[in-house]
Amino acid sequence: MTQQFRITLLPGDGIGPEITAVAVDVLKAVGVKLDIQFDFTEAPIGGCAIDATGNPLPDETLETCRQSDAVLLAAIGGYKWDSLPRAQRPETGLLGLRAGLQLFANLRPATILPQLINASSLKRDVVEGVDIMVVRELTGGIYFGKPRGIFDADGDQRGVSTMAYTGTEIDRIGQVAFEIAQKRQGRLCSVDKANVLEVSQLWRDRITALSNNYSDVELTHMYVDNAAMQLLRWPKQFDTIVTGNLFGDILSDAAAMLTGSIGMLPSASLGATGPGVFEPVHGSAPDIAGQDKANPLAQVLSAAMMLRYGLNQPKAANMIETAVDTVLNQGYRTGDIMAEGMTIVGCTAMGNALLQTLAE
Ligand code: NAD
Repeated sequence: MTQQFRITLLPGDGIGPEITAVAVDVLKAVGVKLDIQFDFTEAPIGGCAIDATGNPLPDETLETCRQSDAVLLAAIGGYKWDSLPRAQRPETGLLGLRAGLQLFANLRPATILPQLINASSLKRDVVEGVDIMVVRELTGGIYFGKPRGIFDADGDQRGVSTMAYTGTEIDRIGQVAFEIAQKRQGRLCSVDKANVLEVSQLWRDRITALSNNYSDVELTHMYVDNAAMQLLRWPKQFDTIVTGNLFGDILSDAAAMLTGSIGMLPSASLGATGPGVFEPVHGSAPDIAGQDKANPLAQVLSAAMMLRYGLNQPKAANMIETAVDTVLNQGYRTGDIMAEGMTIVGCTAMGNALLQTLAE
């Protein structure tokens, strides 16, 4: 029997529409092979939504997302909207989407593909075999804490952001992370700044208490500054990392660069119920937008994560991941991952190579 899924597409800005087009073609091709029908609905978010409605996350967009089985997002933002007031900035739309769908867990795998080892800025023996999952808390911490703002302070100005977590918020992200670690190598490293921040002390206490329920997972703790250093020094020591919103934002980008290109990295954001959002780690790359230079593979791999974690279709996810592996083995590379002896292709041609592979 044909399976049907409602997918909301949020192509956003910059290279978003180009890479989304490739992912949609790939999903359709896999759908034909495995008898899965995707009903796609496109909605505006970010800069294009600001231009159309004045709001980076129109109510209709959020409602469309809520009504779907999964959301495939590309990227938002660009120079054009950089100087707008914060409430009208593209990023505000993204934060609103995460909050509106209660997506509290962000999963960012950083896996070194053997074909791309030379694209890493680190030495082969340091990065070979790296396979890390960063689990980042997404709806709390300093990006949402109150009070926040820029206030007058006796003739001076005072910028305030507040880092706060409740025990409940820490427990629910901790549970997700322990469960992911159970399915991986069974090692979880919790990253905080408990030597300086009270909010981190609570984080450490709650994660430690939770570990009593997961005797098969080995828990360690690391301060965030050391974690940043260790990620570059010997990344293979990590299996699963769990951390708060701000530290996770920074560490997942650092982990991303171990793999050589931000254009290769997918992510998933999940809530307790309802649709998840699947998106590449990179931004809207306005510097190369509209030039057919974008690497669509992070977006395509995000579609694979959507199939695996959002729609429970592991076979379809594997098919996409194998196709990506095949085109890399065939030597196709976009500019960001180009290496000597390989064939440079644009976004569309990379998509065509994937479709060719899926048709075989
Ligand atoms: P970026 O990730 O957009 O770009 C960083 C560099 O990586 C650029 O040189 C870019 O050309 C390159 N790059 C990124 N993705 C690529 C791809 N798929 N293929 C080839 N090259 C790629 O980060 P930035 O320059 O800091 O930000 C640009 C805009 O994106 C800003 O407006 C920012 O706010 C926004 N942004 C959005 C998200 C998101 O939507 N989740 C995340 C980060 C940044």
